[in-house]
Order: sequence, then structure tokens, then C-alpha cells
Amino acid sequence: MNARLGTHIESTDAQHPLIALDHEVAAQNYAPLPIVAERAEGAYIWDTAGRRYLDMMAAYSAVSFGHGHPRLVGALVDQARKLAITSRAMHSDQLAPFLAELTRVTGLPKALPMNTGAEAVETALKAARKWAHKVKGVADGAQEIIVFDNNFHGRTTTVISFSSHASYKAGFGPLTPGFKSVPFGDIEAVRAALTPNTAAVLFEPIQGEGGVVVPPAGFLKALRELCTQERVLMIADEIQTGMGRTGRNFACEHEGVLPDAYCLGKTLGGGLLPVSAFVSTAEVMDLFVPGSHGSTFGGYPLAARVGLEALRVMQEEGLVERSERLGKLLRERLAAAKHPMITDIRGRGLMVGVQLHTSVDAHEFVEGLAEIGIITKDTHRNTVRLSPPLVIGERELEWAVDRFLQLLDDMGGLPKAA
Ligand SMILES: *Cc1c(COP(=O)(O)O)cnc(C)c1O
Repeated sequence: MNARLGTHIESTDAQHPLIALDHEVAAQNYAPLPIVAERAEGAYIWDTAGRRYLDMMAAYSAVSFGHGHPRLVGALVDQARKLAITSRAMHSDQLAPFLAELTRVTGLPKALPMNTGAEAVETALKAARKWAHKVKGVADGAQEIIVFDNNFHGRTTTVISFSSHASYKAGFGPLTPGFKSVPFGDIEAVRAALTPNTAAVLFEPIQGEGGVVVPPAGFLKALRELCTQERVLMIADEIQTGMGRTGRNFACEHEGVLPDAYCLGKTLGGGLLPVSAFVSTAEVMDLFVPGSHGSTFGGYPLAARVGLEALRVMQEEGLVERSERLGKLLRERLAAAKHPMITDIRGRGLMVGVQLHTSVDAHEFVEGLAEIGIITKDTHRNTVRLSPPLVIGERELEWAVDRFLQLLDDMGGLPKAA
């Protein structure tokens, strides 16, 4: 479709032989855009036909530093030649320096390295349950964790057990008990859900997959106070919001709040590897003893080296301030258009969600964007996410906004009821 747009890209590649092969041999647990990526650099991705796309989703923040960041690739290659994997059967010269920097940057003193985000969340859940049992004296098996409606914390069996989305859970029972879900941003609902058995509140400071939802001002601060008062762990899942994405090192900093624990991932791998971590207090972390938890790859030398370099790049290249400044520019430019098909613009820094009028299908809209050279995905609430690599140029960003608005004109028609 959309030859009428007169754009530099005629069509994406639904008939590509590699897409056909994918349908034959790959589990179809995703519905990707019909683009076959071949290489990438900075904020751009090229497909197998040499067509160039601006990456406006950065792999859900995994590519915050841009594709193929030279410093990060350099660290990866150098470390791969020296020492890549040891298992935790011995120490490596890379792990402790990485975790030392992670504790310094987060302000929390101890860290446990894992690989994927879901594993960091699993680690947090185990830590919270153990802490409630050992420190608060809650009977083992009675621990409760409060979460929020429309959360996204990953895809393991326990994590989907407290998802609000039926499709994440259907057919995967029996599910893990011990979770209570309350409306996001509602401090009174959290208070009402507390019991003597509550171990923790697990939350995203901005819900990403839930549609880029920012909680009401003061919520994080109130949650901090409530958790301290009630002796409950405040666990921030900053796997998507952390490391500069929202214009702060961590999104909790928008309200000057330090949680009892962070789950980190995505950006921590520098756009090159899956690297995640659970970071917390000594009181919590010292409950882990040999045999209580682990992962063959968690904290392997290659990951540790890249993770350390990622933390340094975040601080030394001004990407956090850049995210704040460009995010503001992006939201202002979109808002200034006063486009009738845009019903809401949410987010902080370069984590932006643009909610479209119900007469425009966000899913069709992102397919249209791909055809004109912009890659992103829609998310819940008919929302298009705009979360490019933090290294994106101002001109690229403005180009993307112009294209975005133009496509809305072309696809929009008039609202059904004006
Ligand atoms: C992506 C994400 C996860 C899961 O990370 P994976 O690496 O996909 O397992 C967890 N929490 C949040 C907030 C995320 O955005």
C-alpha cells in the first residue's frame, strides 16, 4: 500500500524468502514487521535489500546507546579474545569491577548479575520472599507481593502469573500464587492491599508495555514512604526505564526516590548482549548463600566487561541529558501540531507514547511507518511508542516527527465523531 505517500521506500518485504523460512521453522510467538534486518549503525537499520530505516524503538531500550557503539563493540571484541565465559565456579577479573560501578551508579550496595530481564525480576521475587520470611518472620509460603494492573515484567511462568493480560497466561497454568494486583498509580489501593504478609511492592516507574503510562505526580514518593512505614520492600523494575531512557539515570530519580531494589536489564547490555542484574541492600542480598540461586551465564566476563563499559558510556557521553532534552523536543513538536488524530502524548525523556484516535489503527499505522522508513511498534491503548536510541540526532528526530504527522494526515481521515 501507500505508493501514494511518494516515499523513498516502496514497500516492505512480506514475500521475502527468509520470512517464508521463518514461518516454516520458527515458533510464531511474535508478529514482526515484514522487515529483514541485515546491519545497523547508530540510529539506523538496513534491511537485506539495502533499504534504510530510522530505529524509533531501540529494541525496547536494549539499544539505547545506538547500534554498534564503537566503545562498546571495542570492549566486546577485546574481552572476547581474552576471556569470555568462566561459569561462576571461579572468579573473573571483570565481575567485581562491573558490580562495583553498578552499585555506585544506583546507590544500592550489592548486586546479583543475571542475563535477561525476566531473570532479574525472578531474582527480585525470590529475594523478597526470602527477606519477608527471614527478616519479617512471615511464614514460608504465605509471602505476598503487590503488583500493578497492566504490568509487564517478563514471560516466565511466575511472572506471567500476575499479568493482567489473558493472552500471556492462557493455557499455561497452574500459575504461581502470592500476588495481588492493584490499579497503577493508586497509592490508596496499595495501602488497602497491604497485609502483615506483604513482602514487597514491585512496580515500573513508567509502565512501558502497558502503553507508556506515567503515574500521577507524587506517587513514587508516596510509595517510598508507605513501603518504609510498613516495612515492605520497594522494588523498581527499571529494565526499560533505567540508564538514561527517561532523562535521568533511573526513572525513580524524577521524584528523588531510592527504592530498596532495582531490576535492570536491556540497556545494561550495551546493545550487544543480554545483561541484567538485581541490585539491592546488604540486608536483602546477604540472604543469598551458595546454592540458593544462580545462572551459568550470569555475570560472565564478556557480559561484565560490556556492562561496565555501558555504565561508563551512559555517564561520560551525556546521554542522560540528551534523552531529557530530545524527549522534550519530541513531545513539544508532536503537541504543537495539535493533530486531531493524536489524543494523548505521554512519557519522559526519550520514552514517549503517542496515543492515536480510535479511528486510526495503531498497528496499521506502524506498518505504514515502516513503509516510509521508520521502525517502531504499537503497544496497548492504541499507542505508538517513540523511544529511539539516545544517540539519535536532532535532525533525524525532526524528520521522524514530520513523517509521523504526514502519515497521520494520509491515513487518518476524519474522526468518526468530531
Ligand atoms: C523487557 C522488560 C522485562 C523483561 O526483560 P526480558 O529481557 O525480555 O526478559 C521486564 N520488565 C520490564 C519493565 C521490561 O520492559
